[in-house]
Amino acid sequence: MAKPKVAFYWCASCGGCEETVIDLNEDLLKVADAVDIVLWPVALDFKKKDIEALSDGEIAVSFINGSVRLEEQEEMAKLLRKKSGLVVAFGACACLGGIPGLGNFCTRESIFQRAYKEVPSVENPEGIVPQEKVDIGIGELTLPEFYDTVKTLDQTIPVDYYLPGCAPPPDLIMNAINAILTGQLPEKGAVLAPNKALCDTCSRNETKPEKISMAEIKRPWEIKIDPEKCFLEQGLICLGPATRSGCGETCIKANMPCRGCFGPLDGVIDQGAKALSAIVSILGIEGEEKMTDEDVKKLVDGIADPAGTFYRFSLPSSLLRRKRVEGIGE
Ligand code: SF4
Ligand code: SF4
Repeated sequence: MAKPKVAFYWCASCGGCEETVIDLNEDLLKVADAVDIVLWPVALDFKKKDIEALSDGEIAVSFINGSVRLEEQEEMAKLLRKKSGLVVAFGACACLGGIPGLGNFCTRESIFQRAYKEVPSVENPEGIVPQEKVDIGIGELTLPEFYDTVKTLDQTIPVDYYLPGCAPPPDLIMNAINAILTGQLPEKGAVLAPNKALCDTCSRNETKPEKISMAEIKRPWEIKIDPEKCFLEQGLICLGPATRSGCGETCIKANMPCRGCFGPLDGVIDQGAKALSAIVSILGIEGEEKMTDEDVKKLVDGIADPAGTFYRFSLPSSLLRRKRVEGIGE
């Protein structure tokens, strides 16, 4: 009997989601035994034309990581959607926009200006930036269009399931693969991770008082972090109250606060706003006394890069989606 065909593809991402497939270790051999991998750019030499040659729906499942920034990524996502029975948004960038999604605070022009002309390590006296078409004398070279706005995968194609994380942990990947192979999948649209807040599974939860007063918001490098105590209690911003569990508390165990890569819980449409509301409700209390507006402002001013802190992984999927710029946006 023919094995189910599986594709892996990466769009705008760092490559970590591709590497996490390797982190399956010996389980990777079981996967390779059970399925027929038809596309995996990081590891295998298949081409776009190989996918085009397949019948529509012939691939059982495509795991697509990364957000959609380039015309080529949109084209490949649409091709894989057409050829696949199921599409899984694989990792934080595909699910929420991720770190590349922070580019939505800028425009294409400002990104090109900074990356190709201003950074100290760049030597570019002619100020050349990527062009979609360049005549090189013996022919024309083309590059895919670099979009102004980064999109999540489901803003580009319909997605069946979401596997969150930066990167998704191997146990959740194996659970997802087993569920697909045995047909024991939840309802379409489900996130394949527990619908519980990280705080609920965090080993420091017992030290998280119901009301926390913060005299000052600090950054991790500014203090010696107590490895037992809730980060919020120590004046550090932790997105645990607004983030889905399932990662195995990786950062917490490494004594770093959660940055929110698992995204929001079911029903929350804006993880950043949810986290902000959780933290602000904490900031408003000092002992039994209410803080003055002035005190709150001083504390909030102490948050370095608030937009990047609360929307680090989720800007394109949030209500904000991108910075408003005349002529850009939908
Ligand atoms: S806020 Fe962070 S450290 Fe505190 S209980 Fe929640 S996840 Fe754990
Ligand atoms: S602790 Fe937070 S940022 Fe770290 S892996 Fe888990 S969900 Fe992601």
